[in-house]
Amino acid sequence: MSETQRVRPEAPTVLEVEDVHKSFGGLVALDGVDIDVREGEIVGLIGPNGAGKSTLFNCIMGVYRTDEGRIWIRGDDITGEYTSQIVRSGVSRTFQMARVFPELTVRENVLVNQAHDDESLVGTVLSGSDEETVRRVEELVDFVDLDHLIDEPAGDLSTGQKKLLNIASTLVRDPDVVLLDEPTAGVNPALVDDITDSILELNEEGRTFVVIEHDMDVIRKVSDYVYALANGSNLTSGPPEAVLSTDAVLESYFGE
Ligand code: ADP
Ligand code: MG
Repeated sequence: MSETQRVRPEAPTVLEVEDVHKSFGGLVALDGVDIDVREGEIVGLIGPNGAGKSTLFNCIMGVYRTDEGRIWIRGDDITGEYTSQIVRSGVSRTFQMARVFPELTVRENVLVNQAHDDESLVGTVLSGSDEETVRRVEELVDFVDLDHLIDEPAGDLSTGQKKLLNIASTLVRDPDVVLLDEPTAGVNPALVDDITDSILELNEEGRTFVVIEHDMDVIRKVSDYVYALANGSNLTSGPPEAVLSTDAVLESYFGE
């Protein structure tokens, strides 16, 4: 038995995905996916490799155009909007593979996320920032426990530290909804708990998350509600314990 049982909050929907389809040439990556994310909750998104999870994030963020279906943020239809507009609506994400600017310091990596759609990268780093931004960047770096590395090149970080840096970077614009793509994949076990705790702490402060994750202990610990995808479709959804013990979900991972 788990000590803490998280319960899906009764709250308005902040992000809604309805019947989204996406193909790449002849390959159907998403074949009509629906998800609903409520204000203040943590939604787990699971499914075997190739299920379409990252593609769904890319569709939400406007990186890919959906072939069919609609996506709403707080009731606003954002289907087909540019990524910059979606970021402005309060959604941000991390990538499955940690992405950092290796030559820039940890501090600069967070900073460049602050102004990426109106200024050049180099300009942002060279021109410095106002005190408020500087303070915020330092707070975020501190929050993910990278303060001792703040002036080191990001290229020197371990995979886990890069993932923590990515989380800090997504937060600099103070998004309401954060999409995390496999935040603990490839991360040293010692850092997995740090990442899990960071997610829970940020959620306590009211931030909403959608977390793609293969580590089922992490999914159990953080999720209020879980969607399982397979072959680009919804397989099942519900409270974590129920979804993780569903035969179809187990088969999708281990079957055949
Ligand atoms: P998951 O994140 O669940 O592992 P993905 O969303 O990355 O799955 O991929 C779903 C399917 O779409 C896979 O078969 C993958 O190869 C394919 N796919 C994803 N992105 C592209 C792309 N840009 N071009 C072609 N195929 C893609
Ligand atoms: Mg993926």
